[in-house]
Amino acid sequence: MARSRTILVAGAGIGGLAAAIELAKAGFRTVVLERAKKLEEIGAGIQLTPNAVRALERLGALAAVKKRAVAANALIVGAGDSGDVLARATLGEEAARRFGAPCSWSFAPTCSAPSQMSQAISSTSCSSSTPR
Ligand SMILES: Cc1cc2nc3c(=O)[nH]c(=O)nc-3n(C[C@H](O)[C@H](O)[C@H](O)COP(=O)(O)OP(=O)(O)OC[C@H]3O[C@@H](n4cnc5c(N)ncnc54)[C@H](O)[C@@H]3O)c2cc1C
Repeated sequence: MARSRTILVAGAGIGGLAAAIELAKAGFRTVVLERAKKLEEIGAGIQLTPNAVRALERLGALAAVKKRAVAANALIVGAGDSGDVLARATLGEEAARRFGAPCSWSFAPTCSAPSQMSQAISSTSCSSSTPR
């Protein structure tokens, strides 16, 4: 159902893009304004907890994310000097059973959640704009 108002979303981070996808799915014309000239990855990757994975699934962005992500089987904390294992948390199937979604989908440095979410946006009625 199309709604008459156009909604402007400031910022194309995960928060802005998630809001824009939901608003577009609810029928609003939604325009995302981003001050950065280009959307690109920052840092070495991102870990997605089960609640984040469920949110991406609901937004319809999980399939695009999965193409570029790996699901970790365990989180291991090691001592910097000796390499001894200090703590270990099993993720993978066990976490999926416990939390309802896999824990820690990790993105490679060559991609980012916002760029994958931008792909999801292209299948909705949102548009996005960055400065020229
Ligand atoms: C080093 C580091 C590692 C992290 N690792 C993880 C992790 O592994 N897992 C995890 O879940 N979280 C992680 N986080 C946290 C996560 O990155 C943030 O919680 C999340 O990115 C916040 O998203 P956001 O959309 O609220 O804000 P942002 O990602 O900051 O996006 C805001 C956007 O708005 C734009 N903007 C700002 N002002 C304006 C304006 N006036 N007009 C137009 N555009 C504007 C900015 O350019 C930016 O693109 C990490 C954070 C850091 C710093």
